[in-house]
Amino acid sequence: MTQTASSGIDELRTAISGRVVEPGDPAYDEVREVWNADIDRRPAVVVQCSNTADVRTAILFATQAGLEIAVRGGGHSMSGASTVDGGLLIDLSALNQVTVDPGAKRALVGGGTKLAELDAATQAYGLAVPAGMVSHTGVAGLTLGGGMGWLTRQFGLSLDNLLSVRIVTADGRILRAADDENPDLFWAVRGGGGNFGVVTQFEFQLHEVGPMVQYGLLFWGLDQGPAVLRTARELIPTLPREINIVIGAITAPPAPFVPEQHQFQPGYGLIVVGFGSPEQHAETLAQIRAALPPLFEFATPMPYTALQQTIDEPNAWGHHCYDKGSYIEELTDEAIQVIAEHVPLKSSPLSTVLFYRLDHGYSETDEDATAFSGGRSPRYAIFIIAVAPTPDLLPGDRAWVRSFWETLQPHSLGIGSYVNAMAENDYDRVRASYGETKYARLAKIKTEYDPANVFHRNMNILPG
Ligand code: FAD
Repeated sequence: MTQTASSGIDELRTAISGRVVEPGDPAYDEVREVWNADIDRRPAVVVQCSNTADVRTAILFATQAGLEIAVRGGGHSMSGASTVDGGLLIDLSALNQVTVDPGAKRALVGGGTKLAELDAATQAYGLAVPAGMVSHTGVAGLTLGGGMGWLTRQFGLSLDNLLSVRIVTADGRILRAADDENPDLFWAVRGGGGNFGVVTQFEFQLHEVGPMVQYGLLFWGLDQGPAVLRTARELIPTLPREINIVIGAITAPPAPFVPEQHQFQPGYGLIVVGFGSPEQHAETLAQIRAALPPLFEFATPMPYTALQQTIDEPNAWGHHCYDKGSYIEELTDEAIQVIAEHVPLKSSPLSTVLFYRLDHGYSETDEDATAFSGGRSPRYAIFIIAVAPTPDLLPGDRAWVRSFWETLQPHSLGIGSYVNAMAENDYDRVRASYGETKYARLAKIKTEYDPANVFHRNMNILPG
């Protein structure tokens, strides 16, 4: 591609209501930043869009100038898909308006909204959209790929609760996609990521949640790993949908509720969140305690908005990161052995392995109803994540992630995974994640809406 940004930038600046930032501008280094500090790219121009018309203008400018496009919602892409060297970066962070209709239990959400902004606006009415677990994640990337979190057992993925989108396509069309309008496109954006255009507005179905929820963290040392995983295996599938448990191979934080002798100790945690009665939650904690007494535990009611921020800090912007995901149907003894052998081998205390339970609400949507990259039978989504506070710790833990993932392969549901848990745009894995039938349908829709693959900085679906 020929990169000839400079010639028309002044015209672009006049045509855009938001800000246009170029190298040399004092704001340049700040506006080009993304969450993963391992990614350091220098776009030729950053367009901070303030409305849908700006997005359209930016897309048409870039395609006419031969500039590669990157689109940034929350900037959490592990692979750095949402930035680009020498191209045009469409920054959507100013498109963060959330309008809630409490009567209809619906929300209109701007394409650059962060989860914290979404949660704050919806919780003002005691409502919520199922979303992810870190509040500085972008609604857009999360939802277009899937969206798993505390509410998934009750209400499914974020994309299962999507009613419509407003999207700008590569040729500058501004379309609404919903079940009753452009239904193929609506199917594709629910799982197909940013492949089909730039979404400037999402419409979500809301659910009554909180405002208070029950939180519990129980912690064991590394030696108890197999026992923790076996306990979780027996218990989790039996729990009502109002209770969700995330299994984490974590390091005990230096928090006031952690006894001093256990702070910074690597081990395993079960994070138990209850959306039903406090008694129901207490009963679950008692069951776990009776099965396997923890080294320490912490339980408290907290607002849903606070729950959504409990792991913000260890996942703060500025760490050097890499991840690889898998689906696993069952925590078999063999899988548990692989996990218990690999967990102690990480170097960075922040590197982690998380197991999200997917069943109940997740399994109630038909497998083919959306383009989501995963089957709907009950399972765990596993995230193996290297998080290094300094760059020197990353290579070792990146190798740890890869070797862990490889060794777990025989116990996983194939090489595919949740596309939002892939730090590399690996064609074979992307294709395997969707499966042949879905991938073929996605490729056909891609050909219709983006035949030149203008939007390729994503888990890319090739046209045709
Ligand atoms: P971005 O980097 O801005 O974008 C990601 C991709 O989406 C890029 O290809 C980008 O071009 C495209 N895109 C962004 N905005 C738009 C738009 N408006 N229109 C079209 N395309 C767009 N996932 C979960 O399911 N549950 C979790 O709990 C969870 N926790 C996470 C915690 C952390 C710390 C991180 C780093 C990731 C987490 N994820 C989780 C994965 C997350 O869903 C993906 O990283 C997701 O892509 C982030 O979206 P974003 O908008 O922040 O990212």
